[in-house]
Amino acid sequence: MRYLLIVLSIFSTFAGQSSTKILKIGLYHRTEPAEIIMQASEGSYTVFGNGQELLRVDDKSILRVASKNGLVELRTLSKTLGTYAIVEIKRNSWGSSIKLQRTDGDKKAREHNDDFIIKAESNKLAVINEVYIEHYVAGVVESEAGSKEPKEYYKVQSVICRTYALNNRGRHETEGFQLCDKVHCQVYHTRSKSNPDILRGTQETIGIVIVDSDINLVTAAFHSNCGGYTCNSEDVWSGYLDYLRARVDENCIQEPHSYWRYETTKDKWLSYLQTKHDYPVNDPIARHAVLNYCPEERDITFDPESDGKDAIDFKTIRYDLKLQSAYFSIENLNDTVILEGHGYGHGVGLCQEGAMIMAKRGYPYHEILHYYYNNVHLVNLSVIDFFRSE
Ligand SMILES: [Zn+2]
Ligand SMILES: [Zn+2]
Repeated sequence: MRYLLIVLSIFSTFAGQSSTKILKIGLYHRTEPAEIIMQASEGSYTVFGNGQELLRVDDKSILRVASKNGLVELRTLSKTLGTYAIVEIKRNSWGSSIKLQRTDGDKKAREHNDDFIIKAESNKLAVINEVYIEHYVAGVVESEAGSKEPKEYYKVQSVICRTYALNNRGRHETEGFQLCDKVHCQVYHTRSKSNPDILRGTQETIGIVIVDSDINLVTAAFHSNCGGYTCNSEDVWSGYLDYLRARVDENCIQEPHSYWRYETTKDKWLSYLQTKHDYPVNDPIARHAVLNYCPEERDITFDPESDGKDAIDFKTIRYDLKLQSAYFSIENLNDTVILEGHGYGHGVGLCQEGAMIMAKRGYPYHEILHYYYNNVHLVNLSVIDFFRSE
C-alpha cells in the first residue's frame, strides 16, 4: 500500500510537471494574418498536414502558408503541397526556431522556438506556438523588459512572467490556446536573442514561481514606476490580497517615469469635476481644496472634508484624463491648473524601475521580490505539485 502511494505520488508529480512545461500561445491575436512565410532560423522542422508527414524544412527552405476556403494551403517555392484542415510544424531537435513573416499588415519578422499548429478560421490563419515554458518566459521578458537591464532584474521578471503564465493558463481555453501574445496576457513578440543575460536569468530561476501562504500562485502585479508609494490591491481593484500591500519605495523616485506634469485651464478642470463628479465647485472651501492639493503620501481618494462627502477616487481622474498615474498634486496659477504627478501605472505590486535600481545595487532577485510582495514564498513548481498530490 505504501509502495502504491509513493508510485502514485511520483506519477502525479510527474504528470503535473509535464502539464506545466509546454504552453500553447496564440500568435497574432486579433490581428490574424491571411498568409505567412515561414523559414527555420535554427535547426530543422518536419511539416505534417492532417497528421501525415509532408516534408522537412531547414533554413534554406521557404514555406508559404495561406488561408484558403477554410483550409490551410501550403506551398514551397517550387510547388503547392495541398490544403489541410490542420498543419503541424514540429522541431527535429532541441533549440530549433522558426522565423515567421506575414505578407500583409506589419511585415516585421518574428522568431519563435519549438512547435506550431496552424488552422484556418474565416479567411485568416490561427497560428499557435506550442512552446517550452522557459523559452516562452525568456521571450516575454525580452518583449516586456527590453535588453539593457542587469541579469538579476531578468531573474525577477522571469519569476513574475512564469507565475503569471501558469496562473492564467485557462484564459483563452475556448479559443484553442492558453495565452495570447498581446498585452491582454503578456507581450510575446519574439524568442529571446538580444541579450544572453535574459536566457541566463530564466535558466537560473528555472521552475521558480511565487506562491502565497496557502501555496497558491499569486497575482504577480507589476507596473512601471510607483512614484515612491505602492498601492494596496483593493485601492485599485476590488479584491483584498494579503501579498499586495502598499509600501514606501525609496528606489524609484529618481527614475525616468517617476515624474509627470499635466496642464489644463482652470475652467476645464472645474467643469470636469462638476459635470463628471457633481463636485461643488461653487462652494469656496471645496473650490480652494480642488485647486490646491499637495499630499504628503499617496492618497487613494480626494476627500477634502475627510468625511467621504464629495470624495473622488484619484484612479477615476487618472482614467478620465488619461494621466500616467493616480498620484499627483494640484496647483493653480492664474487661469492654469497644473497636476504634478509621481509614477507611471497602477502602483500595485512590483515597481519595475525600483526593482531595476535594486538589481543594479546588487540585491539578489529573491530580496527584490520579497520587497514588493508581502509574505510570499518562492518555490519550485515541483513543490506545488508535491503538495497538491498529497
Ligand atoms: Zn490574452
Ligand atoms: Zn517605485
